[in-house]
Amino acid sequence: MRIVNMAGRLGLLAGDAVIDVAEASNGLFSMDIQAVYHRWTEFRAWAVEAGGAAAKPLEEARLDSPVPQPGQVFAIGLNYLDHAEEAGLDVPTDSMVVFTKFSSSITGPFAEVELPPGSVDFEAELVVVMGKHAHRIDTGQAWDCVAGLTVGQDLSERDTQLRPPTPQFNMGKSFPGFAPMGPALVSADEFKDPDALAIGCALNGTPMQQSRTKLMIFPVAEIIARLSAIVTLKPGDVIFTGTPAGIGFAREPKVLLKPGDELVTSIEGIGSIRTRFRGGS
Ligand code: ZN
Repeated sequence: MRIVNMAGRLGLLAGDAVIDVAEASNGLFSMDIQAVYHRWTEFRAWAVEAGGAAAKPLEEARLDSPVPQPGQVFAIGLNYLDHAEEAGLDVPTDSMVVFTKFSSSITGPFAEVELPPGSVDFEAELVVVMGKHAHRIDTGQAWDCVAGLTVGQDLSERDTQLRPPTPQFNMGKSFPGFAPMGPALVSADEFKDPDALAIGCALNGTPMQQSRTKLMIFPVAEIIARLSAIVTLKPGDVIFTGTPAGIGFAREPKVLLKPGDELVTSIEGIGSIRTRFRGGS
């Protein structure tokens, strides 16, 4: 199952068409995509039976994030071996690096983002969306708590992020538009192996990151187990799962995003998002 947020309304994808869920369900489910994660099991059962009534053509330009207002946004740092090495940092083995992107940084899959002053970099990431409450969940139960997966960019202004005396990941990664997501939320059962997906991004057509999610140090189930050992995860919460090697800041010379750049981020089985950048006003 694939769902989208088109023009602010929850839609169920059927090929190239979008079934308007509020209309097709006669109001059983509302147009609010964020609300559907609280009724995920019920919604999935309905979606299997849903017909093509109230279908409209998919319009990319009208797509917004499939999770526009999560209660919590988690992000995992240094979760690919090659990225930890390029960052010159110790590989985490026991302690998982966790930070947040404040939810006001969320934007849609085909957004234009204003570049703040500083050193703005890209991080292609698999994004997990929760479909159940999860507290003290073990790895064997973790995927049952997942609604689905989407494509994300953990855009990062490195000067703010790394400025002494202590790093400020939360601030450096939360400028407006710094969390583009989409184009669709794809339920986990759509993947042959949701732990082994090709992931990458290209800047102005040049590939910058190319990896596979099976190279994560802490795979999705382990992330959920470790987060939920402390925090209660709620339906509609979002987890950015870390980025592989190839970020701009680790290159020689550094590659920083500049006005006019176009960044395309893709994950196998989900699709691509495209982010364009402009200068500050
Ligand atoms: Zn990241």
